Amino acid sequence: MPLSTLCLHCGMCCDGTLFTHVPLQPPEAEVLRERGLTLATREDGGAVLPQRCAALDGRCCTAYAERPEACRRYRCQLLNALADGEVSLEEAKGVVDAAHARVEAVARAFPTSRVGDATAMRRAREAALASSTEVFSSEAREVLTQAEAFLDRHFRGRFRRSG
Ligand code: SF4
Ligand code: SF4
Repeated sequence: MPLSTLCLHCGMCCDGTLFTHVPLQPPEAEVLRERGLTLATREDGGAVLPQRCAALDGRCCTAYAERPEACRRYRCQLLNALADGEVSLEEAKGVVDAAHARVEAVARAFPTSRVGDATAMRRAREAALASSTEVFSSEAREVLTQAEAFLDRHFRGRFRRSG
């Protein structure tokens, strides 16, 4: 129960903050297409589920019973720490709140990404890559760098579910 409580407080492995897509096996792609979800195609022709996931409603997965294997298997570092008793639920929720605050700071630093928009990190990454330093200040880029480092340290670690 504390694990699902934390995930319902977070949602960042589904909303585009941590990952760009979820890899799919062909039967999983068929099931999701039948649900009306729009998928994307990798360079090798394989289907992927783009993030923010279209099955996400708020911070809740509406395709939970039929979610792909990569979603079933995935646990971020923070969730593992909670499962292992290394952090309490309140401490873990505090880390999630801090991560959400950093994402909102990124959205403010990169005006092309709206505050509160769950795809703020992705938009900011793309904007930072595409533009010169005259468009976005070094301070804005530092906000993005620090946010990515925070997400790596507490959530992604060495394991990345997808891009
Ligand atoms: S990033 Fe971790 S805590 Fe957040 S929803 Fe995903 S598994 Fe749960
Ligand atoms: S299918 Fe569900 S668990 Fe998987 S990315 Fe989408 S919302 Fe998250």
